Amino acid sequence: NKQIVLKHYVNGFPKETDMLLNDSSTINLNLPHGSSNAVLVKNLYLSCDPYMRARMSPSIGSYIDSFTLGSPLSGYGVAKVIDSGHSNFKKGDFVWGGTGWEEYSIINAPETLFKIEHTDVPLSYYSGILGMHGMTAYAGFYEVCAPKKGEYVFVSAAVGAVGQLVGQFAKLSGCYVVGSAGTKEKVDLLKNKFGFDEAFNYKEEQDLDAALKRYFPNGIDIYFDNVGGKMLEAVLSNIRLHGRIAACGMVSQYNLEQWEGVRNLSHIITKSVRMQGFVVTRYYHMYPKYLEMIIPLIKQGKIIYIEDIAEGLESAPAALVGLYSGKNVGKQVVVVARE
Ligand code: NDP
Repeated sequence: NKQIVLKHYVNGFPKETDMLLNDSSTINLNLPHGSSNAVLVKNLYLSCDPYMRARMSPSIGSYIDSFTLGSPLSGYGVAKVIDSGHSNFKKGDFVWGGTGWEEYSIINAPETLFKIEHTDVPLSYYSGILGMHGMTAYAGFYEVCAPKKGEYVFVSAAVGAVGQLVGQFAKLSGCYVVGSAGTKEKVDLLKNKFGFDEAFNYKEEQDLDAALKRYFPNGIDIYFDNVGGKMLEAVLSNIRLHGRIAACGMVSQYNLEQWEGVRNLSHIITKSVRMQGFVVTRYYHMYPKYLEMIIPLIKQGKIIYIEDIAEGLESAPAALVGLYSGKNVGKQVVVVARE
């Protein structure tokens, strides 16, 4: 059972060499029945996620634990049930949810897994648009941002798993939407493929405040924040009265020893802005409603979704590390096996 394990805890930016491919672990492909309700799965698609960096530090004082050194990393993925001690799952079912960065995993709390009912769409989508990332965009945009037709929306890390969907949801809601991303290729995708009204490369802007004034001469109603830091700072001085900010993630800060301060916070007060943090897992009760909306949109080609596929478990460390330099174009997925 090949596994990707964490060698040591990380300071600053993670490197491929912080992880190791362990080829020596073995696993029994039959569960000892009657002893637990665990489920044995074969992992198919693994999701690389920015938050995983926090778990590479020894203590994170957060709502999730650090990874255990020498043990496989864990995260979101899509898998096939090989054996089951749980009445909700049977051999051959496809599931998505928390699993290990390894070929086969024993899931001891299978209640956390979602059974995949619609298999007429690519299975890898459940590691993104039809899984945690789709729910993040959906709950964050519709519930937290409460969009109204005609509003001005800004999305950062806009080509990423979450950002590409938020921008398209904003267009479907009749909003004007601008995205930022870190390469020319990504800016072109935003304008020509995902249907954003405008897009810019934040790495080419000396002055983010001036860039936002150029794209939003009348200010921003909704900011879907994936990056935090200097971009959040600049948005705050361009936010409109009664603006809303969904504090989704702050990927620009995850590898810094000391987080950058936000100086413009007073605009939240003077402009009665609602800035709301949210954790997607608290919205999972809305998943059936989301599937009802998104599956027809995918099938009708009304939502575009781009994946960046890395082949083989051994490519997982590089794929994960690449998130922090923006190497991924679209949702970063690792293929461990195809069924
Ligand atoms: P992405 O697919 O967007 O990958 C990360 C992207 O972030 C990179 O491609 C890169 O794109 C950008 N990036 C990396 N470093 C920086 C930096 N220093 N400054 C600005 N941009 C940077 O990831 P996701 O869509 O999966 O996640 C987006 C955000 O949402 C993350 O912050 C994540 O932690 C958060 N999140 C929050 C959840 C919640 O429940 N609140 C759930 C899921 C995700 P570029 O080329 O544009 O720089």
